[in-house]
Amino acid sequence: MFDEDTIAAISTPMGEGGIGIVRLSGKDSLRIAEKIFFSPGEKAFQDRESHKVIYGHVHDPVSGKTVDEVLLTIMRAPRSYTREDVVEMNCHGGMLPLRKTLELVLAQGARLAEPGEFTKRAFMNGRIDLSQAEAVLDLIRSRTDESRKIAIEQLKGGLSAEITALRDGLTDICANIEAYIDFPEDEIETASKKELSESMKNVSGKLLSLLKTYEDARFFREGLSTAIVGRPNVGKSSLLNALIRKDRAIVTEMPGTTRDVIEEYLNIGGLPLRIMDTAGIRDSSDAAEKEGVARSLRSIETADLVIAIFDRSEQLTSEDFEVIEKIRNKKRILVLNKCDLPPAFGDDEIVARLAPSSSRVLSISATRGDGLQELKESIFSSCLKDWKEEREGVVVTNVRHKHAIEAAQKSLDNALKALEGNQPIEIIAMELRDSLDKLGEIVGAVTTEDILNKIFNDFCIGK
Ligand code: GDP
Repeated sequence: MFDEDTIAAISTPMGEGGIGIVRLSGKDSLRIAEKIFFSPGEKAFQDRESHKVIYGHVHDPVSGKTVDEVLLTIMRAPRSYTREDVVEMNCHGGMLPLRKTLELVLAQGARLAEPGEFTKRAFMNGRIDLSQAEAVLDLIRSRTDESRKIAIEQLKGGLSAEITALRDGLTDICANIEAYIDFPEDEIETASKKELSESMKNVSGKLLSLLKTYEDARFFREGLSTAIVGRPNVGKSSLLNALIRKDRAIVTEMPGTTRDVIEEYLNIGGLPLRIMDTAGIRDSSDAAEKEGVARSLRSIETADLVIAIFDRSEQLTSEDFEVIEKIRNKKRILVLNKCDLPPAFGDDEIVARLAPSSSRVLSISATRGDGLQELKESIFSSCLKDWKEEREGVVVTNVRHKHAIEAAQKSLDNALKALEGNQPIEIIAMELRDSLDKLGEIVGAVTTEDILNKIFNDFCIGK
């Protein structure tokens, strides 16, 4: 156990619900819960079996008044989420019963849990590693089924197993190399050298393959940030609405942010598409008109993908060309809207004028829905290079993991160069150790308070 405190929190979201859960974890959980729980004629908690539900009431031990009717579950260490003694009380799902119950357990000596502290304890007590702890949050926040699948694979230890196998490989190589340190007069024999270099190349190749998965897979965790741009009246807001009607993704609100106001999530074949600045797209007030394309152009810079819309029923204007200029170096899809109206220019013309650098041009009608399916397929394929529905093997979705793998790869390559350049064995060993440490950061075998704070501060209280 890493901490003496017993922590408590409301583990369900604020608001009304069928039930709400107050959770306790730590060595005093049972003692504290028993003080406020009343179940007539029943056995003391110490004689209770673990993982069995008990019916009863929460009452205020000072006033003797009943606070709520609850179902209580004891989960004894180590068979619990945190590997500590855990008690969960299923209260009625309203703010007052929950808050009052929480106040009572705090008054009995529990401490209010910090964000993510239950999961942090699960990590500190060795039930899950760091990449699994991160997967808990990814799972909670997943917006499409594909994102959920990736998160649950990671939570089940897929990435951990891969990283651990690579670390084992490196540890073997390291042990082989370090054996020579004790015999400085010996040179590494040519045969062993060849073998060591092969082994290093093998690990290096696997690290590279993992890194490659990040290019596609990261979008499933972070969302693909997409800007819909075009001059006023080309149909940006009509397109957004048409997509939202059919493909709005589940949105998990993040407390304390106004993200949901300015962003929408769409589910494009499992890919969470984050539409940026939806306020700007929808706001067709005079002020926005006056601003012309300026506002819509601002979101281009940080976008992974730009959908540029033009009105095919009208001649192109200087504003349209301004849009084209701005997206020249971005990943983009050009969309000619209002294809239900007589065209004011031909497709060839637009390709020649707007897309000399081989962009694809799609014709749609946002109001009638023509071409939307094609647009969605185009979004998917323009951003995901090698994505297969029936994937095999693990993928990297988290930028922290990506950086660690890159660093590990770099040190490993340095070690390989040192080996091939007949440099001192200590140098090779040092680089290998460095590579091992970097991989260790992913699973939390090597960690700092700084890394932990960054990860767990993102969680909500009660998880
Ligand atoms: P925004 O300013 O770019 O967001 O454009 P809007 O979505 O507000 O559309 C401007 C006008 O064009 C509205 O009157 C829409 O009904 C109309 N419009 C949008 N898409 C289409 C389309 O595919 N066909 C036709 N005929 N009209 C459209």
